[in-house]
Amino acid sequence: MTKSQQLRKLHSNDTVLSVVVMWTIWGNRSFSNSSIRRLESNTSILKHLISKITATGPISVAEYMREALTNPVSGYYVKNDMLGAGGDFITSPEISQIFGELLGVWCVSEWMAAGKSSVFQLVELGPGRGSLASDILRVFSQLKVVLGETDISVHLVEVSPKLSQLQAKCLTGDQTWTCNDDQPVYCSGTTCTGLPIYWYHRIEDVPRGFSVFLAHEFFDALPIHKFQRTENGWREVMVDIDPESPEKLRFVVSHSPTLASSMLIQKDENRQHVEVCPEGGVIVQKMANRIADDGGAALIVDYGHDGTKTDTFRGFKGHQLHNVLEAPGMADLTADVDFSYLRKITGNQVTCLGPITQRSFLKNMGIDSRLQVLLRSCHDPSTRAQLINSYDMLINPEKMGHRFQFFSMLSRGRLAQRKGMQQDTAPLPVAGFAELNVQ
Ligand code: SAH
Repeated sequence: MTKSQQLRKLHSNDTVLSVVVMWTIWGNRSFSNSSIRRLESNTSILKHLISKITATGPISVAEYMREALTNPVSGYYVKNDMLGAGGDFITSPEISQIFGELLGVWCVSEWMAAGKSSVFQLVELGPGRGSLASDILRVFSQLKVVLGETDISVHLVEVSPKLSQLQAKCLTGDQTWTCNDDQPVYCSGTTCTGLPIYWYHRIEDVPRGFSVFLAHEFFDALPIHKFQRTENGWREVMVDIDPESPEKLRFVVSHSPTLASSMLIQKDENRQHVEVCPEGGVIVQKMANRIADDGGAALIVDYGHDGTKTDTFRGFKGHQLHNVLEAPGMADLTADVDFSYLRKITGNQVTCLGPITQRSFLKNMGIDSRLQVLLRSCHDPSTRAQLINSYDMLINPEKMGHRFQFFSMLSRGRLAQRKGMQQDTAPLPVAGFAELNVQ
């Protein structure tokens, strides 16, 4: 058991768009099953890409990224447990239980502020090892009095068979769970806390109903297109074979416009280089539609920017930066989330808040008091040091405190003036977001 797992255990009882997307996805599906089966090793993704580029020409960065991360046989997310000290990167829910607990409080707080719907779906996209959901469910158990007889269920959207198994073990404990890969609900069971839990490959398969959506380090893993401003207008950056070394890949700028470069660049764009994630846009649009129609809220947490950054595409392997074009399938590939793009995509359907820094959000949610409560009940010096270090990792501006951003979508009525109330007509404040950047 790792130190962080020990720590979790110790405290476990102590808690308070588009055509372009269809086009690129269709491209991915044009593999025959037999050619997929032939992709046995990680380097086979590289071989496959090289033969594809040889046959049909350079591919988009989005297609490259999709193959490297989610190729059904050898994709990085499909076959790896990449999280934690022994993996390629570590995330906030893995660093400290406090993170998930505070997000659990946020979910309950938004459910209350939205009128305590009798049905409450917790929907997490890309749940990794299941640690965030596990910490949140512990909070739900502690807040049973508040949640009462609410019909709560858990819905996980996960593309990785390897990670969905880890999630099932983490969240259902020793209870059995059943899986049927061919069904939209490919796995189901009961959580350790007694709630029904379901797994899906796609958000559209999650049932309709009041939902709180969470996406932690999910959007950064979705494929991006890269574009470069040139004398002749916007051109897409593509992946091609390096003529000097036919076993290697290199970036090239397309000579003529592509479908993506004609459709995805905003008219008022003033950067020289842009990354656009249309798949992220489509998912945000679906969440926004559901929040508008069925009620609920969404919290998206990721490293990102508000439409200011340019070239952020990078790879990680063993906690070190890794050349994105080397050994596809062996390293994590990621790009900062452009929150300004996500906000634009939502249109007027929902109210968007943020992005605000992780430090501000967690401070507003009371991370300092929570740390003090945990420290009061902990006397082991090394565990105390671990608690303090992980707190520092989460909120220190030099560490994760400023790198990670919180962005929320709420139903439009959520922040409307509450008519008919004589004294207090102001809407309930949104937990975590002190300064409201209401659209
Ligand atoms: N939220 C977790 C894991 C982040 S890693 C944490 O913060 O610790 C990204 C997660 O998204 C993994 O679970 C990965 O398998 C999943 N994922 C990546 N691309 C996906 C896609 N297209 N559809 C569904 N899940 C995806």
